[in-house]
Amino acid sequence: MGSHIIGTTGDLAPVVNGMDPATPVVMNEPTVELGADPNRDDGWAIIAETTVLPATADGQIATRDDPAVIVNYLSPEGVSRRLAGVHVLQLSLRQLLVPGVVGPEALPADPRSRRRDALDTYDGDMSRWLLELRAEFETLAEEVQAALDAEHQPFSPGTVRHLRRAIEALREGKQGADAALAFADTCNLARLAYVDNGQPCDTGRVHDVMVYLPDPHLAGGSQESGCRSHATLAVNTILGAELRCDEDGAGNGHPSRW
Ligand SMILES: [Zn+2]
Repeated sequence: MGSHIIGTTGDLAPVVNGMDPATPVVMNEPTVELGADPNRDDGWAIIAETTVLPATADGQIATRDDPAVIVNYLSPEGVSRRLAGVHVLQLSLRQLLVPGVVGPEALPADPRSRRRDALDTYDGDMSRWLLELRAEFETLAEEVQAALDAEHQPFSPGTVRHLRRAIEALREGKQGADAALAFADTCNLARLAYVDNGQPCDTGRVHDVMVYLPDPHLAGGSQESGCRSHATLAVNTILGAELRCDEDGAGNGHPSRW
């Protein structure tokens, strides 16, 4: 078990020793360890690790089209249920922070993959996604500028003029992502557009107050958590909205119904 750096076939032998010869070998996406510089070409290593992936009913690796199943098994507590799994040998390219040492944490090398992760693991704060987006605009602007500066002069003057405009647009995109960062950690009252005054939430206080909101489609209405300034705005602008009495207990972050 664990992660092994593979430089020779000899490095691989102890990893696969004793494994079922039918064990699938899968490729994982390249990753970069925290602190390593993804713009450098060195520090990359092939990593092998044994792991368990979710499995289908017939023991194959689950896919989006053929998802994993839940299986019953006997445990000391009786019949229990767990996700079906299949043992695999997983290979991946990893940029190491310290040569020869597999560090504890790495992120996908592909920025699109990191943005997808940040979106899929949404926890109410979109800062990580916006920082990745900002970096992507800057990287693209630098790439276009480098192409314009290339010694073999690949573009005509007309094309250069258009590409200069493209660089300006990318820099504007970066500024937009920068400005959006102030709104990245947003209370539910603002996120769900109950209020929209163009102001960011009280920093770190997005679940401070619970607000009761009348709902014509839901007997008893609903409630949402919010920062204090947006809660005040909601009460002042939404007919029938009220602060909940037990403000101190508010704040699990999940919309709930009464
Ligand atoms: Zn707010």
